[in-house]
Amino acid sequence: MAGGAPRVRFAPSPTGYFHVGSARTALFNWLVARQAGGTFVLRIEDTDTERNREEWVDGILSAMHWLSMDPDEGPFRQSARSARYAQAVDTLWDAGFLYACACTRAEIDARNKAAGILTPGYDAHCRDRGLPRGTGFALRFRTPDEGATVVSDVIRGEVRFPCEAMDDFVAVKASGDPLFVLANVVDDIDMRISHVIRGEDLLPTTPKGVLLWEALASASWVPEGTAVTPPLPVFAHLPMLVNEQRKKLSKRRDPVAVESYRDQGYLPEAIVNYLALLGWSPPGGEERFDTDQLVAWFSLDQVNHSPAFFDVAKLTHMNGEYLRAMPLDAFVEACLPWISGPATPWPEQSFDLETFRRLAPLVQERVAVLGEVPAMVDFVFLDAPVIDEEAWTKTVASVPQAGAILASAAAAYRRIPEDGWSADALHRVTASVGESAGLKLGRAQAPIRTAVTGRRVGPPLFEAMEVLGPERVLARLDAALVRIGSDGGTPEPVGADATGAAGAAGANGP
Ligand code: GLU
Ligand code: ZN
Repeated sequence: MAGGAPRVRFAPSPTGYFHVGSARTALFNWLVARQAGGTFVLRIEDTDTERNREEWVDGILSAMHWLSMDPDEGPFRQSARSARYAQAVDTLWDAGFLYACACTRAEIDARNKAAGILTPGYDAHCRDRGLPRGTGFALRFRTPDEGATVVSDVIRGEVRFPCEAMDDFVAVKASGDPLFVLANVVDDIDMRISHVIRGEDLLPTTPKGVLLWEALASASWVPEGTAVTPPLPVFAHLPMLVNEQRKKLSKRRDPVAVESYRDQGYLPEAIVNYLALLGWSPPGGEERFDTDQLVAWFSLDQVNHSPAFFDVAKLTHMNGEYLRAMPLDAFVEACLPWISGPATPWPEQSFDLETFRRLAPLVQERVAVLGEVPAMVDFVFLDAPVIDEEAWTKTVASVPQAGAILASAAAAYRRIPEDGWSADALHRVTASVGESAGLKLGRAQAPIRTAVTGRRVGPPLFEAMEVLGPERVLARLDAALVRIGSDGGTPEPVGADATGAAGAAGANGP
């Protein structure tokens, strides 16, 4: 690479949500720039006016910002550069690289059919007809007749594209608009791009790009303000991302939008860490590393070419590890957008940061994404818990002793002195209530958890009840008993007469 520091670019087309594959491409480009004091250029390839939308451009910018991958230059927009493409077309035409083609698709197909050719290729029919420009004809590129175009790719080695397999391709549409590959190459030259790092889906068009680059160079096309055409860039085509079925990730089938991971409460650091592992791994095999380590370790020539499995479960697991590794204050801070403000499941004024802080260490151990936090703590900010019906069925309605357990627990908790209301005391008392009913602590806890928190999972029950306080715990147990009663049961405390009570509660069974 002549001239020192790398200049790389990320060149998304704004046609949808910011795809995790695009984020991986952006990251690998960003890393190459960061490692070597280079420049990371953002170019929005927005010439497809039918599929592009401005909101997708905003999505790209905000997702890149969120992932701490802001560009050093740009965003440049292809839609603002059409004059430059027109100039490049003139240059190629004047140098004899392009010719006008008047054929319709149907005509080409008919000729191929008559000649017994099954591939939809172009037979160079108009190559020497000398048709004029500017008459609504497409312009085709005169490809070499023999030899091969070699794409030298850091990841794939030398990839040969024999010339006989390459048609005289259309470089300019009949409308006068340049084809994607032409605009792409003009931009890469003009932006003095030294490394083209992108998805492998673009490998098949790369030989066209190479031919165009060489043609422009031979016609003395130079970036504005410079005197030389930059040399061909280093190419690196990144392995595609696949899902569990080893199928290419699809926007429709798979969760691929970076925006949705942000909305679910994944951490940008975890996403970046995980994306880095898609096609690459550090020399020491580490799985978790911070951005500084990543910048130090990353190497484009260590990227492998086999498809990379985008494993949401692994990403989620990694996110949980990142959450647990946070200092408590940082975790509380990161939770704030999910637990304060008008969008939370409880009335805004019921929220109390100190209460949340007490629960936070318990929550931190148990969530994989921040979006799970509200459900872990809603029981404490809501007047009454929202009872999850499945939890109720599984832990109360279908458990014969449930009513008895709840009744005895309520009675026993009432006997705890007010200044003795602690997780430890609640633990002890609940264990003995369970014993009297012949139940292990875990089984005895289940209906209590549902009655008090509404759910089967959440922070440890005794700590949760300590934070909630006796009044609210007892009110919730009573409410659950009323519901059991109205469902047809007549719970009595377990204890001296445990068998009888269990029998009575048995009426609640399915
Ligand atoms: N705009 C192209 C795409 O989004 C990428 C072009 C490139 O990286 O060269 O598929
Ligand atoms: Zn033709």
